[in-house]
Amino acid sequence: MYYRINQIKLKPGQPVSRIPDIIKKKTGAEISDWVIRRESIDARRKDNISLVYTVDFESEKKLKLPLAPELAYEHVQPGSIKIDHRPVIVGFGPCGIFAALILAQQGYKPVVLERGRAMKQRVADVEHFWKTGELDEVSNVQFGEGGAGTFSDGKLTTGIKDPRIRHILQTFVDAGADPKILYKQKPHIGTDVLREVVVNIRNQIIELGGEVRFESRVTDLIIEDGAVKAVEVNGNEVIETNHVILALGHSSRDTFRMMKKRELPMEQKQFSIGVRIEHPQVWIDKAQYGDPELAKVLGPAEYKLNHHCENGRGVYTFCMCQGGEVIMSASSEGMTVTNGMSYSARDGEYANSALLVDVRTSDFDSDDVLAGVDFQEKYEKLAYQNGNPPKCSWGEFSSGGTSVEASLPEFAVQAMNEAMPYLGRKLKGFDDPSAVLTAVESRSSSPVRIIRDESYQSEVKGLYPAGEGAGYAGGITSAAVDGIRVAEAIIKEYCI
Ligand SMILES: Cc1cc2nc3c(=O)[nH]c(=O)nc-3n(C[C@H](O)[C@H](O)[C@H](O)COP(=O)(O)OP(=O)(O)OC[C@H]3O[C@@H](n4cnc5c(N)ncnc54)[C@H](O)[C@@H]3O)c2cc1C
Repeated sequence: MYYRINQIKLKPGQPVSRIPDIIKKKTGAEISDWVIRRESIDARRKDNISLVYTVDFESEKKLKLPLAPELAYEHVQPGSIKIDHRPVIVGFGPCGIFAALILAQQGYKPVVLERGRAMKQRVADVEHFWKTGELDEVSNVQFGEGGAGTFSDGKLTTGIKDPRIRHILQTFVDAGADPKILYKQKPHIGTDVLREVVVNIRNQIIELGGEVRFESRVTDLIIEDGAVKAVEVNGNEVIETNHVILALGHSSRDTFRMMKKRELPMEQKQFSIGVRIEHPQVWIDKAQYGDPELAKVLGPAEYKLNHHCENGRGVYTFCMCQGGEVIMSASSEGMTVTNGMSYSARDGEYANSALLVDVRTSDFDSDDVLAGVDFQEKYEKLAYQNGNPPKCSWGEFSSGGTSVEASLPEFAVQAMNEAMPYLGRKLKGFDDPSAVLTAVESRSSSPVRIIRDESYQSEVKGLYPAGEGAGYAGGITSAAVDGIRVAEAIIKEYCI
């Protein structure tokens, strides 16, 4: 029988090969075929840090332990309505990638349309932008193969629980990621590895009969009698289809505007605004582990902080990148956007994280459905004018009058000033005057939601808004889960 056991503990530096002996001591059973399912770090007591494992194993002896759960992904059964045209997926970020893969694996031969360029050229375009400041609006940190996730930290943690997550991680591993992501409590892939993995999955989709077209921007939706009939590409080509997955991401503002014109039901959505904050990684290691040397065994330490301000605003850290770097991530000319990324080794000298304040729909200047986009643009333009990017130390910011402050709404500045001393009490050194702030972090989530019903379709039949841009995901893994869900919804109803 295959069993599952929790709470197997090792000291930092002890080899995992000790695990069978520990299980034998606990259960009295000889075990075989064991596999780690989860590894987490227990650092609650700095003088007694341990690594905690969940392990599945085989034993001939009958044990009073739960059986190991079945983990393989089961494809859904196709429906009975014959599909007329190939399904179209707009966007090749995590959501579009996984929607396309699932459809391709079940023979639906999807057509993926991605406005940006393929990986190799995209990497060159982005590096050119970082070096010269010359932005390519076609190919950048937001647009191109792999979507916004490509130049990311590649953290695969998510707040959602879904059986599809295991399948997503397994797909990444099959495409070249480190198998440890299957069991690490906080799986991380790194932008360097993610780039290869994405290209390998693209090739898989093509081998299965799918098509992935780059520099193919969907410029219009052709809708008749309340149902989608075709998409227009680059303003000059029409592709007939009855199924369109809109996996746009949160930065496709021209597409949001086109959808508003087409009167697609959308609503305003709250999001957040703030800065990137940087500290030496060794400070974080010391604050979290006590002994920074432990980072060599446990990996660079992380943090997650929040504070509820008197004015009702929440201030929180988000998307912390251990040993990473702050990057420029704009997708529109004349606007500045910041974010963070890391390589798989996470060996950079600095830790960075978003320091965000929640933005409510009541902060917007109008009731227009795209007022949130206007709000983002206002501060991204200010950040461009104020330094591209505006940058200062926490000491300077707290004294007032900096270019960073001038690039943020007043309520955010107020909330950050109130929250920082509290955050510094939670993590020693966080509010050190030398911490570096870069503005403006404005794209942590979508400013709109494209409304869909329980069949995952918009009011327009055959149109499936999905992923982060449509307001149904936040982060690589949850966007991928949403892509799979939507692909499954199509498969359940239609057959080839
Ligand atoms: C620098 C950075 C670091 C990040 N780090 C992390 C991290 O460590 N972990 C994490 O979980 N998340 C991270 N994120 C967020 C993560 O990347 C997103 O949550 C995720 O990519 C959303 O997936 P998506 O598929 O919904 O949208 P996206 O990844 O944004 O993909 C949408 C795609 O659609 C394309 N598109 C848009 N409009 C059109 C159109 N009209 N026609 C054709 N194509 C179109 C875009 O070009 C884009 O490629 C990071 C983001 C950035 C920018």
